[in-house]
Amino acid sequence: MIIAVDGPSGSGKSSTARGVATRLGLQYLDTGAMYRAVTWSALEHGLDLDDLAAVAERARAVQLSISTDPQRAQFAADGVDVTEAIRDPRISSSVSKIATNLDVRAELIRRQRELIEASQPTGGAVVEGRDIATVVWPHAELKLLLTADQEARMARRKAELAEGAVTADQLRDQIVRRDADDSTVSQFQVASDGAVEIDSTRLTLEEVIDVICRLAKE
Ligand code: C5P
Repeated sequence: MIIAVDGPSGSGKSSTARGVATRLGLQYLDTGAMYRAVTWSALEHGLDLDDLAAVAERARAVQLSISTDPQRAQFAADGVDVTEAIRDPRISSSVSKIATNLDVRAELIRRQRELIEASQPTGGAVVEGRDIATVVWPHAELKLLLTADQEARMARRKAELAEGAVTADQLRDQIVRRDADDSTVSQFQVASDGAVEIDSTRLTLEEVIDVICRLAKE
């Protein structure tokens, strides 16, 4: 079984997808981490991110190693553990540029499909991203679009950060900016046929996981 979980940043996708995979004994694939790892690699090589051909070449060359164990988030790029580095604000502010490079998308979608295929013999995977149900795996058995209003997404980001790390205004700026940067990416995130939209604004993480596990068993 493949469960596709799409949604904007801060919608609670990652915790939800990881929780569902753990509960159902499925693998977990974080496709956003792949775009982040390519961004890290391009910056590490000193590439100009506007040089589309050079960045696409890097996407094809970089060796990515991705843990699909929902209990153990670990990513390596060219043998370097980048699990923490890819969450750096420097990466978050550049990743949308990488994600709108169509040759990068083609390469990462190819790799994502390989990882999904590889998960099938063990029962399948929960795959989170923006375009999973629409582009990467349209025949997923369950397709979900997770949303949450801006205030809820801000509160969740704040809870992830150290006390006093950013002010409320800075946080709002970051969320508004990433939504704007990702507005071009959003073309890949149109609601897919048959996708169930879950607005998590007023639900706890456990409640969202419960709803999805129930849908998966139907
Ligand atoms: O989910 P996360 O915020 O880590 O994703 C990082 C970025 O990768 C997103 O802001 C988006 O630009 C891009 N992305 C994408 N397609 C996906 C997953 C992520 O374009 N399937």
